[in-house]
Amino acid sequence: PGADWLARALGRAGVLPRAEAEQAIRDGRVEVDGRVEREPFAPVGEGTRVRVDGVEHALSRQVRVLMFHKPAGPVVHGSDPEGVGTVFERLRAVLPPELQGFEWYAVGRLDRDTTGLLLFTNDERLVRHATAPETHLPKRYVARVEGEPTEAALARLREGLTLEDGPTRPAEAVLRAPDVVALTLTEGRHHQVKRMLAAVGHPVLTLHREAVGRVVLDVAEGAFRELTEVEVAQGL
Ligand code: URA
Repeated sequence: PGADWLARALGRAGVLPRAEAEQAIRDGRVEVDGRVEREPFAPVGEGTRVRVDGVEHALSRQVRVLMFHKPAGPVVHGSDPEGVGTVFERLRAVLPPELQGFEWYAVGRLDRDTTGLLLFTNDERLVRHATAPETHLPKRYVARVEGEPTEAALARLREGLTLEDGPTRPAEAVLRAPDVVALTLTEGRHHQVKRMLAAVGHPVLTLHREAVGRVVLDVAEGAFRELTEVEVAQGL
């Protein structure tokens, strides 16, 4: 808490997304403590009085978290060189006006073809905490695989196996159907679920994430909901 800069503070407080805030500031539409401020990096604090187009806004830093049910297709990236669409565009398309002003950051990533729970937040610190390797936030995936994993294959997933980038941590692995594995990881390396299942001889056909920490996906594909203050306070 404490020091922040104007454009970012506006994004965090849900007034305008950061890029739009920068433009609005340069265009002279933003007043800070009664004076037009044209510098997006001007320092501001919680108590700074800000007006945009004459309307006063509080620079609150309340942490907001959204759950989004990612469909297969869009990438979890700021840029989209292949033109397949980004999850940020998909999310914006379903957000009501009162949630459009926030700068939304994805909490971790999912592959383009992976569906399921993707969290978004206006709080970069939450992103850093949740995605830091030492946090060990559990993430539960459900994979439909080639073949039918045996108990021995599940045991290897549970105990940990060695991938190109090192050994995996112990995981939970249970069968939901002969060719469906629920795998709970407390780490998140690139393509980790796909690589682990391929390593035990069962390449992934489809992959879905159903939970991150205590948050369990409960909205339809393409839809979102905001987590309640209680859910946010409980932590992920
Ligand atoms: N592991 C993968 O291989 N892909 C994902 O999208 C998430 C975890």
